[in-house]
Amino acid sequence: MAEETVFGKIVSGEIPVEILAETDRVIAFPDISPQAPVHFLVIPKSTAYADVTELAAGDPETLAEMVAVAKRLAGELANGEFRLIFNNGASAGQTVFHVHAHVLAGELEERSLVGS
Ligand code: 5GP
Repeated sequence: MAEETVFGKIVSGEIPVEILAETDRVIAFPDISPQAPVHFLVIPKSTAYADVTELAAGDPETLAEMVAVAKRLAGELANGEFRLIFNNGASAGQTVFHVHAHVLAGELEERSLVGS
């Protein structure tokens, strides 16, 4: 059984967030510490996958749905172009071990990666 993370609490509603998009399998909400004019997270509702490699192996359809939601919201909140970042592992900057896509859009001035 995976340890509960802050994103598990967001999925269950224990921690309230502004839901930007929701499907049967995924939700999207703003990052609490934005690194770009538009910065939101897309996560699966399932708590079974700690990182993107696990999700890609175990449920690639949900991974594809995360990308589709990222694209749709980037079109609604910015000009449709975006950076998609998965920090994979603690030494790569991952702090929450419930797989999540960072979506950054808008005027991107810095080249730094999220979490660094
Ligand atoms: P990581 O470093 O694991 O790739 O990204 C975790 C992200 O989750 C960080 O960018 C951080 O700002 C965001 N985050 C952590 N806790 C919360 C929270 O309670 N609410 C929201 N909206 N974002 C959070």
